[in-house]
Amino acid sequence: MRTDIAQTVRLEDYRPSDFLIDRVDLDVRLHPTATRITATLSLRPNPKGRADAPLTLDGDEVSLKAVALDGRALPESEFEASPQSLTITQPPRGPFTLTIETEIDPTSNTKLMGLYRSSGNYCTQCEAEGFRRITYFLDRPDVMAVYTTRIEAERDEAPVLLGNGNRVEAGSLEGTSRHYAVWHDPHPKPSYLFALVGGRLGRVAKSFTTMSGREVELAIYVEPGKENRADYALDALERSMRWDERAFGREYDLDVFNIVAVSDFNMGAMENKGLNIFNDKYVLASPETATDADYANIEAIIAHEYFHNWSGNRVTCRDWFQLCLKEGLTVFRDQEFSSDERSRPVHRIAEVKTLRARQFLEDSSPLAHPVRPIQYREINNFYTATVYEKGAEIVRMLKALIGPADFRRGMDLYYERCDGTAATVEDFLAAFADVTGRDLSHFARWYAQAGTPRVTVKGTFDAAARTYRLDFTQETPPTPGQPTKEPMAIPVALGLVARDGSAIEAVSDRVNAEGVFVLDKASDSLTFTGVSAHPVPSLFREFSAPVKTILDLSNEELLVLLRHDSDAFNRWQAAQTVAMRLLAARSTGKAIADSDVADLATALRAFMETDALGDPAFAALVLTLPSEADIAQDIGRDVEPDMIHRARKEMRRRIGQACIETLRHFRDSLSATGAYSPDAASAGRRALRNASLDLLAAADAALGETLAREQFETAGNMTDRLAALSTLMTLPGDAREAALARFEESYRDEPLVLDKWFTLQAMIPEDGTLERVKRLMEHPGFSMNNPNRVRSLIGSFAMLNQVQFNRQDGSGYDFLADIVLRVDELNPQLAARLLTSFSSWRMMETKRRTHAKSALSRIAGKPNLSRDVSDIAARSLAEQQGQ
Ligand SMILES: [Zn+2]
Repeated sequence: MRTDIAQTVRLEDYRPSDFLIDRVDLDVRLHPTATRITATLSLRPNPKGRADAPLTLDGDEVSLKAVALDGRALPESEFEASPQSLTITQPPRGPFTLTIETEIDPTSNTKLMGLYRSSGNYCTQCEAEGFRRITYFLDRPDVMAVYTTRIEAERDEAPVLLGNGNRVEAGSLEGTSRHYAVWHDPHPKPSYLFALVGGRLGRVAKSFTTMSGREVELAIYVEPGKENRADYALDALERSMRWDERAFGREYDLDVFNIVAVSDFNMGAMENKGLNIFNDKYVLASPETATDADYANIEAIIAHEYFHNWSGNRVTCRDWFQLCLKEGLTVFRDQEFSSDERSRPVHRIAEVKTLRARQFLEDSSPLAHPVRPIQYREINNFYTATVYEKGAEIVRMLKALIGPADFRRGMDLYYERCDGTAATVEDFLAAFADVTGRDLSHFARWYAQAGTPRVTVKGTFDAAARTYRLDFTQETPPTPGQPTKEPMAIPVALGLVARDGSAIEAVSDRVNAEGVFVLDKASDSLTFTGVSAHPVPSLFREFSAPVKTILDLSNEELLVLLRHDSDAFNRWQAAQTVAMRLLAARSTGKAIADSDVADLATALRAFMETDALGDPAFAALVLTLPSEADIAQDIGRDVEPDMIHRARKEMRRRIGQACIETLRHFRDSLSATGAYSPDAASAGRRALRNASLDLLAAADAALGETLAREQFETAGNMTDRLAALSTLMTLPGDAREAALARFEESYRDEPLVLDKWFTLQAMIPEDGTLERVKRLMEHPGFSMNNPNRVRSLIGSFAMLNQVQFNRQDGSGYDFLADIVLRVDELNPQLAARLLTSFSSWRMMETKRRTHAKSALSRIAGKPNLSRDVSDIAARSLAEQQGQ
């Protein structure tokens, strides 16, 4: 371990590298504990850099064996080396070659950064700063080079050898048990996109013809014996490639595209050029082991990593402050792909639920930061919902502001101008400013200003003048380092709905042809003319901006929207808003009228009877009440998680009872016929059937238990089996424990399925769950070294179990603190991620706040913390400015 009382890196301090590297020739001789790397770097001074600067290469836990300059071994007097850096004090003033030999130990690399082993296979993860754990390098994204990689290994240990680009040579080493392969990537790339793999792997493949008629071989490598579980991922890859050609005119640019699934991985997946490396969770699927949600995630992540080939690889980031340039844009692209492949409104609702649960929470926490941060101590801690999800919302708003045709022209110009370069957010926005002739400097505030804007809207109807006026005000709360805020440019997609559902032909010159009004001042208003009756406004259609909205609409008016709005997103939103009002009131001890709950239940029943079967996936979302975490966030201060839990449970019971016949009907009539298919329509029917089962169990525990047990026993696929088990989790007793035991028996050799079993138990909202989690840590299927296991058990407990993690006695917090300190010694990135589950600590009531603060302080006070964990702990504890 090493502790860096790390220097803070600042955007304003950016300067170009003093040296550039044009070519990298790597010779990697794989060995379990002593892998040798010889890196031959073709360097030259950067004309934009400082003259006379020394050459300092980054390193991290590497051991230097030899260094030579233009073929001459350097004496120790001419360089300075430590595990963290290699400095050549007097480098030549013209082009030169530096040859560096290092040795590393992949087996003991539990950080899973750089070169490491997973289930005996060798693999790499270099983003953000992992390449320096392989060899000394100018490990920054604006240093782009052409790589040739020779990989050598024992043939028995690693029959498959993969690198970036195209394979140009392979063979055996005469008279030895070793073999080698040489890979060449003609596209200059930053070191974070480097990858290599060596191991025993099974393979599925198909060929793909690009739009210009080039043949590409697509291949997915998995653990031998699991090849048939990669078919869906391969199909998703082919659909992604076709979609990027159609939607963005982007074609693939190498002869092969390889994906390798590994079981030990810190993130979801990594877009290394031509050689994506995936967490196996996002590749492997069969109807018996994966749920509909797993299939949808695989499709989205395969697409995301593939789309990076243009948005990230061909055009990369100048520095890590520009991370949103590749991530926000690529998330937007994968969301559009999934929306085209599935139901657009259903997908939009899912995106917004994630955004609110993760990004809005982050924005209201001590970890709030702009989409483009201006400083960091540890870049690994900025792979956040803000950079990814809010970054995607900014691209979506840009498209709404300029329209789809200009958006596509701007994207084309961006790719054309920036291809092969390391770009900035300014370069991106300039492309759209240039094709439209618009000034986007006000809009650019979205990248710089943290916090979720709050928009308050008030409507006034004037019957005599036949006008309807909407008054808007906006404000953004203070966030760390940003006590005061400027108004944002907020696109408000809106329309008016008549109370009887008829169309309203009202006009306002402030609303454009797409129905969008741009609120770019602190307050503004717009007036519709020709309005004959008091309408209900439908605002932020399709969630046109990542803001919180405060409406002066009554519950009754919102339920008009649920019934009549032409915008599906706002129909769902209307029901959620009414439910949230009631739940937040109940959770804070305020009285609410019984009739209010009854009105919501009646409206939901009417919706189900008339509309639910038109789009069952949508109906399942309408039936799902805001989560306990959502309610906590809505309340915002002095939160009592137990009260929230009780309020939500009670409301689910009331709604379930009011709708019991319809729910039974759905649960019985939507049964699957024929073989399982993961397509969106079939998944939607399963979603509504399983949501119905869950509400039935809330209404009538005995009936729910009978139905859930029966479904658990007879289910023909993992989606239905897991849904039944999930419903049983809400019903304490022998049936639940018996089902858990059966599940464990059936899937104990399936780590990814066992993860689901860990997660469900970690989420049980009862006393005793913490003890259960501790017991499960002793299960032979659990390992502290594997991020998927740790996240499924401990991460789920901390992030998804509001009541038990936030126990009033503080034992949930103490447990997590102990785990974070333990994991930090193995894998700092994973530890830091777990620690972010304290994001909501400041909104808790006093007792919990005190316990959380002391747990956080205990972490912060521990000597020898990783930079990852000390950064999150310090920021979580910092006093917020202006609050
Ligand atoms: Zn990405």
